[in-house]
Amino acid sequence: MGLAELLFPPRCIFCREFLSAGSVCPRCAQSLPARGLVRRRHEFIDSAASPFVYDGPVRAAILRYKFRGRRAYAEGFAPFLARCVEEELGRDFDVVTWAPISARRLRERGFDQSELIARLTAEKLDLPIERLLRKTRDTKPNSSISGAARRRANVSGAYTAVDTARFRGAKVLLIDDILTTGATLSECARVLLTAGAGSVCAATLAAAPERR
Ligand SMILES: [Zn+2]
Repeated sequence: MGLAELLFPPRCIFCREFLSAGSVCPRCAQSLPARGLVRRRHEFIDSAASPFVYDGPVRAAILRYKFRGRRAYAEGFAPFLARCVEEELGRDFDVVTWAPISARRLRERGFDQSELIARLTAEKLDLPIERLLRKTRDTKPNSSISGAARRRANVSGAYTAVDTARFRGAKVLLIDDILTTGATLSECARVLLTAGAGSVCAATLAAAPERR
């Protein structure tokens, strides 16, 4: 055991239980995805899937990942997302990309949480990954805005496509961390399709519980 393990023994990223190795305990590995899988219809997106529901220990883990600098969590998250993509959406994609954060947010946070998850997921799926989108302005979190039209307006025009010649007609897999309303993913998909993509499927690590 190295010094790092002695000082920071590995813990389950979801329930924080101490582990001898790895990043997810067997109980969480079993129980969390089993009650998770979410599939929903979204404008401009052929199909979307998420292995987890965004609540409880999953929500807590994603918040630690995004706001408390736990970058290494991405390695714990990616296998779940890769398996979900493979089982629910297949592997027939030409390119994987992600819904990026703005340059300003990137400076604050130090890393793009969705890019990191997307890169590790693409690696597991053995698919190429490329930046196809840029976020050109900051937006409010869509979870804080009520009404579908207002949420669409909030993200409208916030993304532009880059290097469009490279993905003309391509089947794109779009990855994001959390699906709250679908407005962000739909806007990203709209921009990709307008720029020439052939189709867009989406996968997010977690999806907000369905509103009743
Ligand atoms: Zn656990």
